[in-house]
Amino acid sequence: MGRYGLFLSALLPDIPFERDVPLSERTTVGVGGAADVFAPCTAGQVSSLLRVCERCRVDIYPLGAGSNVLPSDEDFKGMVISTSHFDRLAAEGDTLTAESGAKVGKLLQFCRLRGLSGLEFLAGIPARAGGLVCMNAGTKDGHVADCLESVTFVRGGKVYTLAARDCAFGEKKSLFQDIPCVILSARFRLRPATREEVGERIAAALEKRKDLPKGKSMGCVFKNPAGGVSAGALIERSGCKGWREGGAVVSRIHANFMLNVGGASASDFRLLIRRVKERVRRCTGICLEEEIRYMR
Ligand SMILES: Cc1cc2nc3c(=O)[nH]c(=O)nc-3n(C[C@H](O)[C@H](O)[C@H](O)COP(=O)(O)OP(=O)(O)OC[C@H]3O[C@@H](n4cnc5c(N)ncnc54)[C@H](O)[C@@H]3O)c2cc1C
Repeated sequence: MGRYGLFLSALLPDIPFERDVPLSERTTVGVGGAADVFAPCTAGQVSSLLRVCERCRVDIYPLGAGSNVLPSDEDFKGMVISTSHFDRLAAEGDTLTAESGAKVGKLLQFCRLRGLSGLEFLAGIPARAGGLVCMNAGTKDGHVADCLESVTFVRGGKVYTLAARDCAFGEKKSLFQDIPCVILSARFRLRPATREEVGERIAAALEKRKDLPKGKSMGCVFKNPAGGVSAGALIERSGCKGWREGGAVVSRIHANFMLNVGGASASDFRLLIRRVKERVRRCTGICLEEEIRYMR
């Protein structure tokens, strides 16, 4: 568990720290070295954990479902904080509060049973609530920030609540990407609807996704640039479909997806991303920006 592992266990005995956890098993792309320390904690433990990490100068990395993260092949010399142990949901009138670890499927099932509409566009995204907020996830039909009221998070040892308008949301972007913090929960303002209506909207959203590439990936690698043209179209126009680096391949179905077709390393993905970016820049003059989050 590294130099500070025993110290952490002594200070925070209730957290079941794990050591040397392969990130290839905790990310959807299935690559990467190990996390020195992996901390599956509860919401109530986050503040004390971050206080200790700050005091001991331990780097932290919050991880949801790991569906938009590209680790490095090197081990992560810090603490990965897993939100999977806090996933409660609560509704009050048209307001839904979701703890960070709640998976999209659970969130939408809850919304359907409570007759709450507004988040159906998320159906099929393999994510947890904290990751959705951090990434301002969405589709052509909406983004998380559209119906978000506030976000509660821990920074250092302190808990803060920020109104959504103060979270610097943009295209697959938020304030939470720029500060070391752990989102505890998000509060959404939704609309009343019948269970049938919500169910139908979920089914319609899933139907739109049925042709997306299957397999190990991070979803879309690049953000869509301003101006209405999609990153996928630019990559396709630049002739990168099917490009390969080791076990990492640019999908032939959707050019903004890169798949781990077996035995890929994180370096394969990094190299392929660099090559595609460079080719698109030379062919179109547009510099694509990564949507995925590099983990060092
Ligand atoms: C097959 C596939 C399809 C996808 N389709 C879409 C899509 O349609 N639209 C879309 O927007 N995205 C899509 N994605 C990308 C991804 O699912 C989203 O970005 C999602 O929001 C990531 O959530 P996560 O829980 O997996 O976060 P992670 O991947 O675990 O983390 C992403 C970032 O959020 C941070 N983070 C996570 N949890 C917290 C927290 N509690 N506190 C602070 N920071 C946190 C991480 O540190 C990291 O920087 C897809 C991915 C895949 C694999």
